[in-house]
Amino acid sequence: MQDPATTVKSRGASTLAVHAGTPAAAAGAPVVTPLISSATFHNLPGPDGEVLYGRYANTENHRLVGAKVAALEGAEAGLVVGSGMAAISLTILTFAGSGDHIVAADSLYGGTRTLLTRELPRLGIETTFVDPAGRWRDALQPNTRLLYMEVPVNPTLRVPDPRPVASLAHEHGIPFAVDATFATPINWRPIRDGVDVVVHSGTKYLGGHSDLIAGIIAGPRPVIAQAREHLKAFGPSLDPHAIWLLERGLKTLAIRVERQNATALELARWLADHPAVAAVHYPGLERHPDHAVAKEILAGFGGMLSFVVRGGDAAACRVMSRFELVAVAPSLGGVESLASMPCHTSHAALSRDQRLAAGIDDGFIRLSVGIEDLDDLRGDLERALAPEAP
Ligand SMILES: *Cc1c(COP(=O)(O)O)cnc(C)c1O
Repeated sequence: MQDPATTVKSRGASTLAVHAGTPAAAAGAPVVTPLISSATFHNLPGPDGEVLYGRYANTENHRLVGAKVAALEGAEAGLVVGSGMAAISLTILTFAGSGDHIVAADSLYGGTRTLLTRELPRLGIETTFVDPAGRWRDALQPNTRLLYMEVPVNPTLRVPDPRPVASLAHEHGIPFAVDATFATPINWRPIRDGVDVVVHSGTKYLGGHSDLIAGIIAGPRPVIAQAREHLKAFGPSLDPHAIWLLERGLKTLAIRVERQNATALELARWLADHPAVAAVHYPGLERHPDHAVAKEILAGFGGMLSFVVRGGDAAACRVMSRFELVAVAPSLGGVESLASMPCHTSHAALSRDQRLAAGIDDGFIRLSVGIEDLDDLRGDLERALAPEAP
């Protein structure tokens, strides 16, 4: 595999998104990567002796996307896998086994929380959850093998500072992994802030078109090699067609995210002054509790914003039912705007008190801002938020 860190170090993110990982030009070669749907390959004795096979994630399509994301992250290597949850579970299994311990932030994607609380204890892996802005040091044990957090946090869009956690991890020689799905490598380069391993749900911004399920792990070469061994054994590989779509989506990552950053900031400012809105959660707003941290570590504040409708969940449901452009659907990061209510999706299993404690007030709506025109999105929100005709 070519070394993206050395070949394309000096390029900008949009250039990397288009070109990194692409084989050098040759007369007659296609400009677009061919979709190679062959599961297996003629295994003639060759110099590196590596057996190519779809499940091993080492075909041309797999390698190219792994290298592209590694270049975007400034990582030594990258691995494309079958889903965001596959990326997270393989990363954890790379560092932790029976008898080991993880310290994780207490605000995590629901699937990750289920993995840590329900599945991993069956394998003998225990997790202590901490406030991401709290005292991680107090949760360390002699058998702690991994520190894990998400930045920004879903759906409150808090931006806990990962840098003190990175310092603690390095002080103790414990790897530090983050799920940077919400940030994307356009808005945040976690490795520059001391993170060792970055995971993404490629389903979201990296793919960007809500038409595939994929995951990415980026980090040091030995870690990626180990994760690949776990991938071979557990088997959650990505099929070639989805990888091909993921590569195509990645090429426009920078311009999509820049557009989404700009539109979300405008919508957040507009919503903050709207009489039907009780609160707006967006790290780009000066009154956001983590605005200072966000300004320091993020290159853009992102395309995700949450707001609280006055009148509670019934009023929020009414708003959701009046959208014409914004689709009411879970997931995020696509070109189309999507809205969901965490009380019906990610946080449906919590009691009302637990939800309130997690910062999810009654009437809370999460909006994944797409690439539609600002005026059209604002118009859709305005119509949906308008008082009902008497
Ligand atoms: C969606 C998501 C995941 C899981 O990704 P899948 O591709 O659905 O497996 C993990 N983390 C975050 C932050 C997500 O938004």
